[in-house]
Amino acid sequence: MADLGRRFPNEPEYLQAVEEVVTSIEDVYNEYPAFERYNLIERLCIPDRIYTFRVSWVDDQGKVRTNMGYRIQHNNAIGPYKGGIRFHSSVNLSILKFLAFEQTFKNSLTTLAMGGAKGGSDFSPRGKSDMEVMRFCQAFMNELYRNIGPHTDVPAGDIGVGGREVGYMFGWYKKMTREFTGTFTGKGIDFGGSLMRPEATGYGNVYFLLNMLATRAIDLKGKRVAISGSGNVALYTAKKLLELGAVVVSMSDSDGSIYLPDGMTGEQFDEIFELKMAYRGRIREFADAHADCCTYFPGERPWKHVKCDIAMPSATQNEIDGDDARALLAQGCFAVSEGANMPSTREAVHEFIDARILYAPGKAANAGGVSVSGLEMAQNAQMLSWSAEEVDSKLRDIMKAIHSQCETYGREADGYINYVKGANTAGFMKVARAMIAEGIS
Ligand code: NDP
Repeated sequence: MADLGRRFPNEPEYLQAVEEVVTSIEDVYNEYPAFERYNLIERLCIPDRIYTFRVSWVDDQGKVRTNMGYRIQHNNAIGPYKGGIRFHSSVNLSILKFLAFEQTFKNSLTTLAMGGAKGGSDFSPRGKSDMEVMRFCQAFMNELYRNIGPHTDVPAGDIGVGGREVGYMFGWYKKMTREFTGTFTGKGIDFGGSLMRPEATGYGNVYFLLNMLATRAIDLKGKRVAISGSGNVALYTAKKLLELGAVVVSMSDSDGSIYLPDGMTGEQFDEIFELKMAYRGRIREFADAHADCCTYFPGERPWKHVKCDIAMPSATQNEIDGDDARALLAQGCFAVSEGANMPSTREAVHEFIDARILYAPGKAANAGGVSVSGLEMAQNAQMLSWSAEEVDSKLRDIMKAIHSQCETYGREADGYINYVKGANTAGFMKVARAMIAEGIS
């Protein structure tokens, strides 16, 4: 860690993600001298390659705008590089390196053949017209198309990149290569997308939660669940929770949070879904229209304001700090299942594990998204489309398999399942074995 800190002093998120993995796999790592001989940790900490490029595009006023573009190809020991693209003003190399690093272990956990990657830009689609977003996506793809492909690197969506953006990027990729291949996942259903891909991350997180609750014979029905975010992951998490009889008490966006002490109704969920998905509106607008049953906290995350049994952070990295974690525990929260990537700080993670609550890190709990992306690749390769039921059933099986890997590697002497240790170790072992078998490269 000291060596990495010296080499990459300006990459705090990346160092945070690496530290979490290397400290939790230490015991297993030390059992296999070959890992050290092959210098696996150092090789895994440096991405295979990083592309950085300028993206120039023209806005609706005719002004030329410039953003940064990145693609981190982290590791392809077990399959082609695979990971989302994020468009958000906060995007930088540290954030994308942490996401690509995490993705490598997450993809390994899914049981499918996918390596790890991540990409993105500091471009924000917020407030841009569809045509501006399209011109940006095409300019981004002008540079990236050379370095991706169905057997090389398969991008997908992430924050700020949904069906619209994937469609524009895929369209331009196809134009440049003159080939129709499954190079992107998260595509529209009419052109090679998989049913259930939009739902997969949120539904998968709820399936993972059900597996965790089963270890303590706890019923989800009637439990109060606090969610952050109101994008793809958060909305489908809420949808599945409501279907299963849980009480959803909060959501948020980058401007603030809403708290519904009595829980959200199905009609209110539909309203929020339409507000965020169809109109790209603000969560505050929902609070304004429902002041009788809903409180709005401008500029705040939900955690200190809600009474909940379960927290499912689904917005962004480091959105639960030590104080938030202590507030959640004080209110009686007994389970945290992460929809977002690394939403809890190191301090928060320690609080949860020390309190022996059910705590699932994103790389296990949110792996349903990339799993169904893997299933989309399989369908594209076969030129087939599977039914929603078939994909959903495979998703449930995969989440169960991820949970059981966490149990195998994460069970501690007192019986507690340390999901951080379990997920990191299981994810690492498969990649490590493949890297040794494939020789030094
Ligand atoms: P979306 O862009 O659809 O939604 C993101 C949500 O989080 C929005 O409500 C957004 O608010 C809010 N948000 C984003 N940045 C911040 C911030 N800095 N502070 C507060 N709120 C913020 O993204 P997704 O739902 O796809 O992704 C959410 C998380 O889940 C990310 O961590 C992503 O990496 C992770 N993830 C996503 C997967 C997927 O399949 N999409 C798969 C696995 C993990 P606003 O509306 O104001 O922008």
